[in-house]
Amino acid sequence: MRNQVTSPGPAIESKIRRLLPVLHRWYRDNRRPLPWRVDPTPYRTAVAEFMCQQTRVATVIPYYRRWMRIFPGWRALARSSTLRILRLWEGLGYYRRARNLHSLARAVLRLPGRELPDDLESLRKLPGIGDYTAGAIASIAFKIPSPAFDANVARVLGRLTAKGGRSPRLPYLRCLAGKIVPQKDPGLHNQSLMELGALICLPRNPLCASCPLKSRCPSSRRIPGRPKPPPPVPLRETILLVKWGQKIWVTREHPRHRWKGLFLLPTVPGKPRTPRLLTIRYPFTRYRIQADVHWSNQPPAGIKGRWMDPGELRRAPLPSPHRKILRLAGRD
Ligand code: SF4
Repeated sequence: MRNQVTSPGPAIESKIRRLLPVLHRWYRDNRRPLPWRVDPTPYRTAVAEFMCQQTRVATVIPYYRRWMRIFPGWRALARSSTLRILRLWEGLGYYRRARNLHSLARAVLRLPGRELPDDLESLRKLPGIGDYTAGAIASIAFKIPSPAFDANVARVLGRLTAKGGRSPRLPYLRCLAGKIVPQKDPGLHNQSLMELGALICLPRNPLCASCPLKSRCPSSRRIPGRPKPPPPVPLRETILLVKWGQKIWVTREHPRHRWKGLFLLPTVPGKPRTPRLLTIRYPFTRYRIQADVHWSNQPPAGIKGRWMDPGELRRAPLPSPHRKILRLAGRD
């Protein structure tokens, strides 16, 4: 039977609290020197949190640096066009985050202080900010004792409180995360837990031998290697590169409703009669897609779109695989 208790008792709470000084010291000595950890203003913290959702930190760093050069604060971001923002986000994926960040900047400029509010409830009401992001911004930028409960924190706390090899359920762990946030340095505390989860207490094959908590962790070296995730599902598609002189025809429609707000080369059913130009392969969620690209000089029937000249194409936001097609075809 799985642990059904939804709230940790005082014994568990105090057991975890006793581990915190070791964890915090480990974090001070081992944290990655990430650019958003220098001068973590509310704006810089929010941008980093939006970018890091579902994207590897190493991928985010160059995007974050360029973003701060172009949009050093809420005002510059709010005044930009959505298309420019999507263009700068190109390659990070999950474009809804970019649109939410833009909406957030516009909402912030309508607030009296033109800055994020320094209380959790008001933060949660803003576009794109859920419980986790509100907790992260509140604790890191405003030093408000609030938990930032994400998958890394859940995993670390779950393993530290496991019984008989089983972790408690998420409501229990969320409650525990809320109870152990210290009044002093709550941002450092939250980042310590997240950093341990990101660097040491890995989902598969945790590095227990290097863990500062190994001597007091019931799961140390007892986590069976998790089975590999299922292989990606292969999917084939056909993309047209429709040209007219220097112009390329683009659409915002996709048969599977991917990449909302971006410009796309048209994806069409069946196999066109025109010769195949090239083939690319790319991952998309659980799929491994093989796309055959064909030249055409006729826009496909039944899809709305328009012609773009090379300058417009360079400025327009396109998904990375479509940008790659243009590059390989010598059109970017
Ligand atoms: S000892 Fe291993 S399982 Fe326990 S917290 Fe550290 S890395 Fe995770």
